[in-house]
Amino acid sequence: MASWRLECAEDRRDLRAWEPLWRRARRPLVITGAGISVASGLPTVGETWNGIVLRTLFTRHRFEKEPKEFYDCYRDWLWSWGRAEPNPAHRALAAWGGPVVTLNVDGLHRKAGSERCLEVHGRLFELACRGCGILVRGDRAFCQDVPRCPECGGILGPNIVLAGEPVRHFASVMDLVGEADLLLVIGTRMDVSPMNQIPAAAHRRGIPLIRVNRRAELLIPALLGGE
Ligand SMILES: [Zn+2]
Repeated sequence: MASWRLECAEDRRDLRAWEPLWRRARRPLVITGAGISVASGLPTVGETWNGIVLRTLFTRHRFEKEPKEFYDCYRDWLWSWGRAEPNPAHRALAAWGGPVVTLNVDGLHRKAGSERCLEVHGRLFELACRGCGILVRGDRAFCQDVPRCPECGGILGPNIVLAGEPVRHFASVMDLVGEADLLLVIGTRMDVSPMNQIPAAAHRRGIPLIRVNRRAELLIPALLGGE
């Protein structure tokens, strides 16, 4: 019977212990967070922009109260994040081709070629109309201080989950967890609700959980490629 594990792979010696688990798994599920994109040069929500901690800016309240300030930051993000490229961890997961659930809005899994990717916090490079719901490209934000919907004139918001809003696809995520026989968690502590239900669900099913906290760009290609 499979055993419950919650460990950190910090270097390749740790990884050697997990390689047989990965090779034996027939239905692994990968869950990624900000840590996988650090090697692509992206900031995390704990960093600041013009003295504002990003975590406090990307809230529904802040967007509704100060949309212009929000969009000033958002445009900076589009400018810098749009140039980010997938790193070897994203590329190794795309070559593997299995299901990936990501907390990231940076689009790097899709840019690397992952087709089975659930983006539970949405996509930074799209805007969604708060009135009629249509999606438009993020670069429309460069046309106006606070961009408006081309269809209904409503305010456009970034197509991402702001703090205080529910994550997306969560039922599908839990279905994937229910089918998986191994979880590989990369660059996230998954300590925020509702994603924090996932380790407990894996525990109840007795399936292994491998956690890679740092240096995913070295460890993931080694694990998936069996180097
Ligand atoms: Zn609209």
